[in-house]
Amino acid sequence: MTTKPSLAVPGIAYGADYNPEQWPEEVWAEDMRLMREAGVNIVSVGIFSWALLEPAEGEYDFSLLDRILGLLHDHGIAADLATPTAAPPVWFFRAHPEALPVDKDGRRMAYGSRQTFCPSSPAYREAATRIAGKLAERYADHPAVAMWHVHNEYGCHNNACYCDESASAFRRWLRARYGDDLAALNVAWGTAFWSQRYADWEEILPPRATNAGPNPTQLLDWHRFCSDELLSLYRAERDVLRAAAPSVPVTTNFMAITDALDYWRWAPEVDVVSNDHYAMAVDPEAEVEIAMASDVVRSLAGGPWFLMEHSTGAVNWQPVNRAKRPGELRRNALAHVAHGADGIAFFQWRQSAAGAEQWHSAMVPHAGTDSRIWQEVVRLGADLKALAEVRGTTGTTEVAVVWDWNARWAVEQPAQPNSELRFQDQVRSWYEPLWRSGVGVDFVRPNADLSAYRLVLVPSLYLVDDEGAANLTGFAEHGGTLAVGFHSGTVDENCHVRLGGYPGAFREALGVRADEYVPLLPGETVALSGGGTASLWSERLRTEGAEAVMSYADGVLADVPAVTRHTYGEGTTWYLSTQPDPATLASLLTRIRTEAGVEPIRTAAEGVEVVRRRGPSADYLFLIDHAGNGAEVPVADDAMELLTGKPTPGSVTLPPGEIAVVREPREG
Ligand SMILES: [Zn+2]
Repeated sequence: MTTKPSLAVPGIAYGADYNPEQWPEEVWAEDMRLMREAGVNIVSVGIFSWALLEPAEGEYDFSLLDRILGLLHDHGIAADLATPTAAPPVWFFRAHPEALPVDKDGRRMAYGSRQTFCPSSPAYREAATRIAGKLAERYADHPAVAMWHVHNEYGCHNNACYCDESASAFRRWLRARYGDDLAALNVAWGTAFWSQRYADWEEILPPRATNAGPNPTQLLDWHRFCSDELLSLYRAERDVLRAAAPSVPVTTNFMAITDALDYWRWAPEVDVVSNDHYAMAVDPEAEVEIAMASDVVRSLAGGPWFLMEHSTGAVNWQPVNRAKRPGELRRNALAHVAHGADGIAFFQWRQSAAGAEQWHSAMVPHAGTDSRIWQEVVRLGADLKALAEVRGTTGTTEVAVVWDWNARWAVEQPAQPNSELRFQDQVRSWYEPLWRSGVGVDFVRPNADLSAYRLVLVPSLYLVDDEGAANLTGFAEHGGTLAVGFHSGTVDENCHVRLGGYPGAFREALGVRADEYVPLLPGETVALSGGGTASLWSERLRTEGAEAVMSYADGVLADVPAVTRHTYGEGTTWYLSTQPDPATLASLLTRIRTEAGVEPIRTAAEGVEVVRRRGPSADYLFLIDHAGNGAEVPVADDAMELLTGKPTPGSVTLPPGEIAVVREPREG
């Protein structure tokens, strides 16, 4: 295995997207002074500057970018230099109107925004790799350039185009997937249903708008194709950059918990995994999603990663863009560090006066430096400086949670038993009680190496191939504990139902069989033996070797097993055939993990997040008080709190809303 180039910025990197082209040059000097004041040591430049760099086709002007990179270098600030390909200039679309994307309903989009291009357009690919090549040629050896930032948020607005060019590309992708065997595609897509049989590859279309529902396998292959098509664009740009500057790491900013791309396929293609994450204002506990998203990214990276974008305050794209509460900026940013980020950056450095994101917060707000946001930005810079030694350390856990985009795409299709079932909500509902109890988790794909874990959780895995299913059940057979949520293992990789009873692929390992799914209507609940209730889903389940731990206590399924436990090989398996209320789910998961021998990292008061990063000679315990009540947490006798630089023998006091990062030396 070759070692990937790493980011040559010391300590925890700190910065933002920097768009000085939006400002007169006299502002730039102030930017440099303020970046130094805040402790910024890296900024992403040029993300949307294609029209500036190539004002007309084949005409280049790098004078402004030369000055910006020179200025950054003179001030000791590294550049994460972007290819500007997420926003092609107007001249490009005037010359290539066919490169504008077409939506599902056949409407061709207009230029005038961003990420409005057809991913399969040969003209776009040519223009994008050409400008990437010009940047590589000019700046490969520039001393300020520490990382390449390819494009921006692939798939954010443009993950699917339904034009004829994209249709051809889809057919090429399908021919490769099905080994040029059209009969195999007909079988996989189940085209005997609704008279959909294809007699020629040329007949196949993207899943454009039709009167009735789409073919599920066509739709699933379309998601796979769209992810791969953008990945191929990324690779084309990356290869150009890598050829010119092999020692400079390449990244592209993921949006890891969204459904656009299969990031398990993307992660090995980047040198530094980076992510953008924005909390939802309506989420009363956004800290849970921040933790979960960060754990997904850390798992994709297999170690430390870079937070490329989050916000200092409000965003501009939600119905109501709530300002962050005092202290929330630090808690959010340091939670990302706790979950493995070695770089923390914001969109953006200076809040725009004009343009589509003028109401998106930034490090330097409209109000300037006489502002709460700026004070917190400066304080965070000092915090990150104090955490330099944490860089390179990573999480350790005995719990894995299965996360799979194929299963997500499949279960969120139309015409499912219950359209209320959302993959991310299901995973979060299981993640949350573990997070609350201070149990760390990794996320894994179904066929991952599970040998490091005691407990593997499968909250939602509607689709799984035979290999993935065998890997998960084999884990239990060889002594692990496997817990599976309802409507998992139901279909194979082509969305074909596994016949003979549910949950198909896991039936034998779980020692159960359901002959009918009984989804619950919105608002409908069913009582569980033991006092709790359940919603969303239920099953006419019977045990075939397993014991019933809880049963349905009323309704049509009264006395039918709801939650089961089974000894399988040398291990234990659990099945949750319904969605228990949060308290019941939490107590079940506590029992499951306790029996599996998994204990919390440290016990702390309710509302205090506990996360651990492990280095060769020390553990770093992150304690974040989201509840605002303050807490006293036991720590090692030789512990030291890094943000204050003070020894904390035996225990650390966390003032309300505050954060502590405690170094606990460990045997080497
Ligand atoms: Zn297209």
